[in-house]
Amino acid sequence: MIYYKTDEEIELLRLSNMLVGRTHGEMAKLIKPGVSTSKLDAIAESFIRDNGGKPGFLGYNGFPNTLCISINDAVVHGIPSEKIVLKDGDIVSVDCGVFMNGYYGDSAYTYTVGEVDEKIVKLLQVTKESLYKGIEKAIIGNRLGDISYAVQQHAETNGFTVVREMVGHGVGRNLHEDPEVPNYGKRGRGVILKKGLVIAIEPMINIGKRDIYQENDGWTIKTKDGLPSAHFEHTIAIGEKGADILSSFKYVEDVLNEK
Ligand code: MG
Ligand code: MG
Repeated sequence: MIYYKTDEEIELLRLSNMLVGRTHGEMAKLIKPGVSTSKLDAIAESFIRDNGGKPGFLGYNGFPNTLCISINDAVVHGIPSEKIVLKDGDIVSVDCGVFMNGYYGDSAYTYTVGEVDEKIVKLLQVTKESLYKGIEKAIIGNRLGDISYAVQQHAETNGFTVVREMVGHGVGRNLHEDPEVPNYGKRGRGVILKKGLVIAIEPMINIGKRDIYQENDGWTIKTKDGLPSAHFEHTIAIGEKGADILSSFKYVEDVLNEK
């Protein structure tokens, strides 16, 4: 069942998602060769708590950390570890959730570490673009399938593949609510988009084949062929003037533009 949010609830969701965006800005400052993913996680946790939020993923279905950090062939749900140290040429997806004032924020960004192969840079660019192609279709009167189709089309016409098993979702008082938001699908299918619908759109796009598997840790999702995968996510609200992006990459991009 879908919970449509009031304008007041959307403002609370915006606060949670803004804190996610600001946490990403802190991560952007720190991501470089030699940094362990557990260090990123610890700093994100402190930053969220210092700013009045709680880590949204910590303890969720037993997840042990604040961030999901997934490197190279890890698609999503990577567990931070002091043994995992960023190195030149890596790409690193950081997925961050915040719970504050009763509502969740959820957003992911894939960062480059040092010098990254040209084809992988293109993967990141196309994955981010495919997120925004989906957001463009998130307007009143369209259907969910219009979003899914737009994401898939952009990824596949650029020669990449779309992970099917992992999907976006409604966001609200729960981290994962209805409806599911697949990154593939048909135009004109699925629920009609109405004002107050809040969803996380989160393309997971692979350079090689789309097939994935779960690691023995019970969390980390990886590509079967071992090739890199990228992940970008925004939480958005469907509003009268189109999609209202509640999370933000501004803090990240301000830092990256200065690097
Ligand atoms: Mg997420
Ligand atoms: Mg999500």
